[in-house]
Parts: sequence; C-alpha cells; structure tokens
Amino acid sequence: MLRLLISYSFMLFFTLLLMSPPLIVSRTTLDHTLFEQPASKITIKNHDIQSFNNAGRGTKIIGISQFKRYLFRFGYLPRHNNNNTFTDEFDAKFELALIKYQQRLGLQVTGKLDSNTISQMITPRCGVQDTRIHNIHHITKHFMYFPGKPRWSRHMPMTLTYAFSPVYMIHSLSMHEIRAAFQRAFLKWASVIPVSFVEAEDYGFAEIKIGFYSGDHGDGEPFDGVLGVLAHSFSPESGRLHLDAAETWAVDFGVTKSEVAVDLESVATHEIGHLLGLSHSSVKEAVMYPSLRPRDKRADLNIDDIKGVQSLYGSNPNFNSDEWSLESDLSVNRGPEFGVKPLWLGAGLIIFSMIHTLFAWC
Ligand SMILES: [Zn+2]
Ligand SMILES: [Zn+2]
Repeated sequence: MLRLLISYSFMLFFTLLLMSPPLIVSRTTLDHTLFEQPASKITIKNHDIQSFNNAGRGTKIIGISQFKRYLFRFGYLPRHNNNNTFTDEFDAKFELALIKYQQRLGLQVTGKLDSNTISQMITPRCGVQDTRIHNIHHITKHFMYFPGKPRWSRHMPMTLTYAFSPVYMIHSLSMHEIRAAFQRAFLKWASVIPVSFVEAEDYGFAEIKIGFYSGDHGDGEPFDGVLGVLAHSFSPESGRLHLDAAETWAVDFGVTKSEVAVDLESVATHEIGHLLGLSHSSVKEAVMYPSLRPRDKRADLNIDDIKGVQSLYGSNPNFNSDEWSLESDLSVNRGPEFGVKPLWLGAGLIIFSMIHTLFAWC
C-alpha cells in the first residue's frame, strides 16, 4: 500500500516536471567564457538569477555587463565606447534601458533585473532590433512600424514574388515541407491585406529572397548558433528573409522531438511581417512579438498584427472584420490556458487513478 503511494507520488512529481514549460534555459556558468558568447545570448544559472533580482542603481554584480551587451544589441543602450566593452555597474543608463525593454516587451516595469525580465532575455527571439521608445512616459502597447513607416509601394492590389535560395537551404526538412510552411505563412498575411504572394522561378528576380544562413553571412547581422537569435529580415523594400541554419527547424513537433526545435511556420509568419513593414509588437499574443520559446507555436495572426498591417496596406476586400475580431478575442482569451491545460489534465488523471486504486484496496 505504502509502496503504491510512493510510486504514485513519484509519477506525479515527474509528470509535473516534464509538463512544466521550460522557463529558463541555462547552458553554461557565469564565468569568463560568457564574454566570448554572442551579445544576443544570455547565459545564467538558475541560482544566480536571485542575485540580480535585488540589484538596483549603484550596485555592482559580476555578469551585469552581459545584460548591457544584450540591451545594446537590441537597441536599448547607446554605444558605450569605441570597443563596446561594458562594466558590471548597475548605472542610471542601464536602469533606463531596462525600463524601456520592459515597456517594449510588455513586462512589468520594475527597472530591475527581476526573474521575469531575465527569463524573457533568455528566450530565443528575432534578431531585428526593437524600435526605440522615445518617450518612456508614453507607453504604446500595440504594433509598431519601422522608422519612416516604409511599405511596398505598388498599385493595389499588389503581387509580390518570393523565392528560396538555390544555395543557402537546410536538409533536415524537405523542400516540400519548407515550401508548404512558407505558403501557409504568406497566405495568412494575404488573407487580410490586398497583397498576394507567388513563388517565382527565378531567385535573382524575386522581390522576396528566403535563405538559411550560418554565422556571419555578410549583412552585418551574424547568426549566433542554436537558439539565441532565430532569424531576421529587413524592412521594405529589401525583401531579404534570413533564417539561422543552426536551428532545429520543425514543421511537426510530433516528428521533430528535439527540445530546441523551433516552429518554422511561426518564425516565417513573423519575418514576413517585417518584410511588409511591421516592427515588433509589445502584445505577447501577436505574431510580431519578438520572442518564441522552443517547441512553441504562434503562427496565427492576432488582431494586433491585422490592425498593424491593414494600417499600412488597407484591408483585403474578402476580409470579414466582424467575424474575425470575434474569433480573435476568443483566441486571445483562450491563449494563456493552452500551456496549463495538459498539465492539469495529466495531474488530474494521476490523482484520479490514485484515489481509484486506494478505494479498490481499502
Ligand atoms: Zn522580428
Ligand atoms: Zn542576414
């Protein structure tokens, strides 16, 4: 009887452990090697997070410099000096940068390195810098454009051509799978604006050029290996969409079991948003929110994405705004539950079977 209870307790514990979302991914310890890490990657041990939590202006903690490099990398800290070295001082500039970052990412604004902020910085993200907030007292929590509000200037309805690089591709997914994921991603945007996308045969003449690249690939935005930065693309009318070839790209998590698998369709949809002229949104449910956890899928346009892109291109005549906004509200409201449901379902099943067995034994 006792043995049965113990075995059930272990089952419950491990099920909860397996089902909880990977909030913090730490790879190496806080030592000198982190300074050789790309600025886009924060490396920190779980027990070190607490030491930063109480840090405020005027303190000095080893490792703060990596957060400064990260905030510099994504556009929150101005260039510090000629060789871009940062100190471990928690100074006023760093505090202001943290406040801007927290506002921009829709986090609680504390001006401190709290665990939520660190967790957000560890989460893989898009390499495109977040558009600057000029006035921290004027918080806009929605979609944003690139400076100057660039967009494709064609007669409406417009058709843009896209093509995949004949050289810079990956082989872990078939060309058919990659093509299908991008087709779905393009279709989402095309269904809400009067813009359609067709695959061109000639890569050289395509307006949108898609490729998978490794490390430094010549555009001044080197990729950083597994996780960290996942992809980047450029504002109109550049048309360049680059994905980090080092990622474990997936189109079906049932097939790709890796813990660091990244959903290709979600990232493709996000990057196409940049190609069309949208910058990052501070709405966490939006496709244009900058980060995406491994094995997460956020490929459906949110009402925030739709409002943003329609303010650039107008609405697709076939787009039913009444029907959509209703669905959108429902999906936004349902969103947070998705991560919790399997957890409670699993725990509930185990507790039920425990009680059931206990009654059978008594
Ligand atoms: Zn982005
Ligand atoms: Zn690139």
